[in-house]
Amino acid sequence: MSDRYTRTALVTGGAGFIGSHLCERLLEEGARVLCVDNFSTGRRENVRHLLDDPGFTLTEADLVEPLDLPERLDVVFHLASAASPADYLRLPVETLEAGSLGTRHALALAERSGARLVLASTSEVYGDPLEYPQRESYWGNVNPVGPRSVYDESKRYAESLTMAHRRARGADVGIARIFNCYGPRLRKDDGRVIPTFINQALAGEPLTVAGSGHQTRSVCYVDDTVRGLLALADSDCVGPVNIGSDEELTVLGLAEYVRNFTGSRSEIDFVARPADDPVHRRPDLSLATSLLGWRPEIRLKEGIRRTVEHFVEERARHGDGAPA
Ligand code: NAD
Ligand code: UDP
Repeated sequence: MSDRYTRTALVTGGAGFIGSHLCERLLEEGARVLCVDNFSTGRRENVRHLLDDPGFTLTEADLVEPLDLPERLDVVFHLASAASPADYLRLPVETLEAGSLGTRHALALAERSGARLVLASTSEVYGDPLEYPQRESYWGNVNPVGPRSVYDESKRYAESLTMAHRRARGADVGIARIFNCYGPRLRKDDGRVIPTFINQALAGEPLTVAGSGHQTRSVCYVDDTVRGLLALADSDCVGPVNIGSDEELTVLGLAEYVRNFTGSRSEIDFVARPADDPVHRRPDLSLATSLLGWRPEIRLKEGIRRTVEHFVEERARHGDGAPA
């Protein structure tokens, strides 16, 4: 039975945005995929098309509790955590517990099988960075008691716990610091900048730019992010290693780009900037390139095209009317 598969992969948070794309790629590669999710920010709909695949198993469970899986695992991708600021500000304690208890349980599952664990960490460990672009050697500038700390500190703890398991118990681990990622299956209402701007533009509503919009982000298309996670899994690199795009743009520039791309006549509405919102974010990709041979390939124009197409289809399916 197991001979039919190249490997057995556990994807925690597999019904989320990145996780669902990762499950898809792993199945295409011939892996058996065990997806575990509590649907707190993800959706069953994201993996519904995979349910008929005999290699795919979906389990509803909360990683905050210990999980017993009878299967022998070859690799664990630990993605279970809220990721959008709107989600983690709504779920502060759950987010801290996903990074702490959830990571502990994911590590236990990996270690039981001697499997490699890939931790989905984040550029948010750099906080509002004082180094630019951000290299992995930078320790970060995080406000430990600010509202964003529930996410930043949960991931910093998750990295620390992962490294402790490696040092103390010889666990086989790799840490990916993922930078802003976008693409189809982001929830329309999850509050992140790209789904928000695209849906506002399609509805002809004002685009809500936070502050002056001069803060920057470097956005990476999800297929590239997933390729990076797979490259890390297939290497012996411990990391942490940045996985993201170094194509940086201002938030206002992004709003204008989306507006032009969709042909929308939406206005720009300048709204309050969230507390501790990082000013500049751009990864240094030297390590990813040299250690993993990985670089993003999909340019903004193509990534935005695919994402807009997804939301146009979703709006048509849900009867939201034609694009504005
Ligand atoms: P997402 O919210 O779409 O997916 C996260 C998934 O984890 C959801 O399906 C959610 O239901 C599940 N989950 C949360 N807590 C859980 C728990 N306790 N037990 C079981 N399942 C749980 O977010 P995403 O954008 O797909 O992010 C995936 C991972 O990548 C996260 O760990 C996130 O921190 C990391 N990451 C994402 C980005 C990005 O730009 N998308 C950037 C940096 C890091
Ligand atoms: N942002 C914005 N309008 C929105 C949502 C977000 O201007 O409707 C800004 C936000 O303040 C931040 C950037 O876009 O400066 C990226 O925000 P997002 O929530 O996507 O991710 P973050 O990088 O903050 O985790």
